[in-house]
Amino acid sequence: ATAAPALSVKGITVGYQGVPAVRDLSFEVHPGEILALLGPNGAGKTTTLLASVGALPVMSGQISALGAPIDRRIERTSRRGLALVPDSRGVFRQLRVQENLALSKRRGGPPVESVFDHFPKLKTLLRQTCGNLSGGEQQMLALGKVMLQEPKVLLIDELSMGLSPIAVQDILPRLRAIATEQAIAVVLVEQHIDLALAIADTSLVLHHGRVALAGPAERLRRDRQLVEAAYFGTT
Ligand code: ATP
Repeated sequence: ATAAPALSVKGITVGYQGVPAVRDLSFEVHPGEILALLGPNGAGKTTTLLASVGALPVMSGQISALGAPIDRRIERTSRRGLALVPDSRGVFRQLRVQENLALSKRRGGPPVESVFDHFPKLKTLLRQTCGNLSGGEQQMLALGKVMLQEPKVLLIDELSMGLSPIAVQDILPRLRAIATEQAIAVVLVEQHIDLALAIADTSLVLHHGRVALAGPAERLRRDRQLVEAAYFGTT
C-alpha cells in the first residue's frame, strides 16, 4: 500500500571476470526507508552497492532505480538522483571543510549553507583542514557533501570505517532523520550492526554473496543470535 520502490534489485548475479561475488540477490528500498546491508568481510556488500549504481555490470537479473532500469552510463547516475558514499568517505583531507563543501555544490542545487541545517557543527569547522577533523566530523562532512547532490537513492559504504561505536552513535540517527524528512531511500553498509539495525527499517545479511537472512530490522534487533548465525553462515 506504499509508493513504488526507489531502488529495486531483482535476482542479480554480479562479480568480477566472470566469477560471481553476489548470487541471485533481490531487495527493494522505498522512499524514506533505510535498508541495513550487513555481512562479514568479502560477503559482497560493496559489490552490491557498485552494481546498484550501474558501475558494475550484472551477469543476470535486473536493477531499476527511480522508475527506470539502471543506466550503465554512470556519468548519468548522479544526475538521476543516485549517490554513493565510499568507505574513504569522499573527503579531501588536504582541503578545508569549506573547500570540500564548495566542490560538491551543484549549479541550481541547494546552497552550501543548507548543510548546516543538518550538521550545525560543520559551520564552526569551515576553516579547518579536513585531515585534522575527528572521524565523527569527517562523517558529517561526507554526508553534508552528498546532501548537496539532493539524492533520492543514497548508498553508503561503511561511513564509519575505523571509527569507534561512540563516534558512530551520533551520525546514524541524523541519517535516519534526513532519510525520513527528504524521503531518501538509503542502503547502509555498516559494521556496527546494532547501531545500523537501530535506525534501519529493513535488513539483509549477506554471506559468501548469498542472502543468509533478510527481514524487518526490528526482528533482527530482537534476535541477535539469528544475525550472528547468518554472519557465520550457520543458518
Ligand atoms: P568488505 O567489507 O571486505 O569490503 P564486502 O562485503 O564489501 O567486503 P566485496 O568487496 O563486495 O565484499 O567483495 C565480494 C567478493 O568479491 C570478495 O570475495 C572479493 O574478493 C571479490 N572482489 C571484490 N573486488 C574484486 C575485484 N576487483 N576483482 C576480483 N574480485 C573482487
